[in-house]
Order: sequence, then structure tokens, then C-alpha cells
Amino acid sequence: MPKHLRSAWNRTLFRLATLLVIAALGGWLVGAFWQVLAIGALCVVAWQFWRLRAVLRRLTARARLQPAQGDGVWNELDRLLHRGQLGMRTRKRRLLAMLRAYRAATAALPDALVVIDRSTQRVQWFNKAATTLLGLRHPTDLNAPVNQCLQPLPMSHWLSAGRNAEPMLDATSPANPDLRLNLRLIPYSDQYWLLVARDVSKLLRLEEMRRDFVANVSHELRTPLTVVHGYLDMLDADEFPEWKPILEEMQKQSNRMTQLVEDLLTLSRLEVQDSLTDEHIAMGSMLATLRREAEALSRKRQTILVEDCGDIDLWGSNKELHSAFSNLVSNAVRYTPVGGTITIAFAREGDGAVLSVRDTGYGIPASHLPRITERFYRVSTSRSRESGGTGLGLSIVKHVLNLHQARLEIDSAVGQGSTFSVHFGPARVHRRESALPLPQSLTA
Ligand code: ADP
Repeated sequence: MPKHLRSAWNRTLFRLATLLVIAALGGWLVGAFWQVLAIGALCVVAWQFWRLRAVLRRLTARARLQPAQGDGVWNELDRLLHRGQLGMRTRKRRLLAMLRAYRAATAALPDALVVIDRSTQRVQWFNKAATTLLGLRHPTDLNAPVNQCLQPLPMSHWLSAGRNAEPMLDATSPANPDLRLNLRLIPYSDQYWLLVARDVSKLLRLEEMRRDFVANVSHELRTPLTVVHGYLDMLDADEFPEWKPILEEMQKQSNRMTQLVEDLLTLSRLEVQDSLTDEHIAMGSMLATLRREAEALSRKRQTILVEDCGDIDLWGSNKELHSAFSNLVSNAVRYTPVGGTITIAFAREGDGAVLSVRDTGYGIPASHLPRITERFYRVSTSRSRESGGTGLGLSIVKHVLNLHQARLEIDSAVGQGSTFSVHFGPARVHRRESALPLPQSLTA
């Protein structure tokens, strides 16, 4: 017990004892010892009850307490109560200020935030932006089922998929069809999940503008380039021997520029496409074409090998897959020194298939691999230019493979070579007609 409490307690005990002694003395003097002592004791008990009642009233009253005056244990209790109330009020004020700041911050946030109870799939809370972006109304949508108030977003499907669900989703706003939203579901506890919706319409418009700009510029460059290219082709370098190296360089650069424009146009086209018309791709003739192209490019500087499992083909776009595969093959030829070997192999892989292009060339340092499919990303700019590269080849490959739900895997060791493998799922595999087992009537 603290010192001041102990002295208050002693003082009170002393006063009570003094009162009882006075009562006893008074009673002895008037000759009614027990009666007067009993009255004195009753007065003491009544006083204690009175003070207890006062304390209870102060505890239950909502009004602000006044600091107690005087000493004694009851006044000390009053002082403690007053101090407790002051502390509680300060904490409450601080909490309210924090709550107000938090509310102001969530209201100022441009992203919509919705707290969802995962077990009941109901809306627990949402901020102001959720009204403009998701169309949630206060207070009608509080505690409403999410799939009902956020229709047509596939919320219940998303919630039931749990933590394995796709972390992001792009969708049109249920409140305004002109708005495109990027939605994220963040599980921040076992019970409550946070839905964050961001307006990405402006970003998508900018992206569209960028795509259009690149496509238009490439398209506009095509005609003047064709003219320049045509005239350069008409000039016979043998007629002007002193101009020969200059004319050859001009032709080489104009070819490079034409290839660059063509690649940019291909990329623009692939970017806006979200599906392809599927056709049967005869891998036998595809591999034969790739071999011819590789041999033409290599001009016997490397050995070209082709391995075909022989019993499966692919489903997809012949033109786009040919462009992707020939990009891989031409890279292998361009980045493999004289005497190297390039192996183009097509094989089964479980129920799927894999096409790989293996070379014994320069290889790619591991630090470059994560960014290698970005536009204009090159490991060595000079080597790429020298070899006639545009820096867009692997970007095109990535887009084509995305459209075929295929995956590119790169395995490379500097100085030893690289393997670019394209993995296709079972849905892309087509059994070759000739590989089908003959009907029993024919084999008999
Ligand atoms: P580029 O037209 O420059 O070849 P790509 O997009 O096709 O552009 O390739 C990007 C970069 O990846 C190349 O510049 C090259 O450095 C590297 N690369 C691609 N394929 C190979 C390969 N088979 N061996 C070594 N490096 C490669």
C-alpha cells in the first residue's frame, strides 16, 4: 500500500476509535455505558454507509467528478476515482481523435475498401470510395450479402476459392460501366477479408494510347521504308564499285529497320488480341520449315539437328506459333558461334508437349533471365545489333505463348549454351492421324 494511503487509513481508524472512546466515556458518565456506545457505533456504521452511497453515486454519475477535498480513506478513494476518470477521459479523447483521423484517411483514399466477413460473406464496413466505385450505399448495404450488393462481380466464387484464389481480378465497375476496376482480395485474418478496388480506367486508356501510337507510327513508317528499300534494291552495287560498301551498309540498315517495323506491328497486333482461331498444326512440316529457315540463316556455320517424337501435333495458330518458334531458332543461330550445334526437338511431356530449341552458344548470365522477354532488353546490345536483332523477338514469343496458355522456360549457362523450352498443356495436344492405332478389322 502506498504511504499516503496507509496514513489516510490510519487517520480514519484513529478517528473512529476516538469517536467510540468518547461515546463510551459519555455513556459511563451518564450511567448508560452500553446504550450510548451502541448509539455511537450505529452512528459510525451509518456514516460509513453514507460515504459508500456517495461513492456509488459518483461511480454511476456520467458527470465529470470534482477532485475530493480533505483527508481520510473515503476522500482518498474519491481522489483515486477522480484520477481514474481523468485518465479514462484522456484515453477516450485520444481514441476518438485516432478514429476520426482513420475515418478521414479512409474517406480520402481514392481506392474502394470493403471489409467482408468470410464465414457469412457479408459486408462489414466500407469507405466512401466504395460508393462511387462499387455502388455500395450507406447504411443499406452494411451487413448485406456481398454477392448480392456487388453483382455482377464473381465475389462468392472468389471468396470460396479462399487463399488459393487469383489475387487480382480486372472487372467493369458495377456502379459505372465506363470504369474499369482492378480488384484485390486480401485475407488479413481468418474471419475478415479486405476487398480493395482501384480505378484503372485512366491507366488502361493511356496503355491503349501507347499501343495505338506505336502501331500508327510503325504503320506510317512502313510506306517510306518500302520506297527507300525498293530504290536501294534497284541500285546495282557492282556499277559503282567505290560506293559498294556504303550501299551494302544502307541495305543492311534498311532491312533492319523494316524488320523492326514489322516486329513492332506484330507486337501491337498480339497485344490487342485475346484469343486466336485454333487450327491443327502439323508439327512434321512445321519442324521441316524451321530446319530450312535455320539452315538458310546458318549457311553451314552450325549443325542443325531436328528431333520429332512423331505421334503428336498441336492445336493453335499456325502463323503465330511459327513466328514464335522461328524467333527462338533464329536467336539460337545468331547467338551460337561457328561450329556449334542447334537442336530443335518436339516431344511429349506427360499429357502435354514441349518444343525446345537447344544451342551450344554464348549462353545468358542468370541475372538477365528475369527480364529477357521485355521489349528491347538485350544481354549485349552490340552483339544483338551485329547479329541483326531487333530486341523484340522474345517479347513476341511471350505474347504468342500467352495466347496459347503455354509457358517459356529458359535454361542457360554462360559459354555452354541455352535451351528455350515451350511447354504446352494437354488441351493443345493433338494426336497425329497416322499415329492412331488401326481399327481391329484392319489389323486382323
Ligand atoms: P534480339 O533481336 O536482340 O535477339 P530477342 O528479344 O530475340 O532480341 O532476345 C533478347 C536478348 O536475349 C538478345 O539480345 C540476346 O542477348 C539474348 N538471347 C536470346 N536468345 C539467345 C540465345 N539463344 N543465346 C544467347 N542469348 C540469347
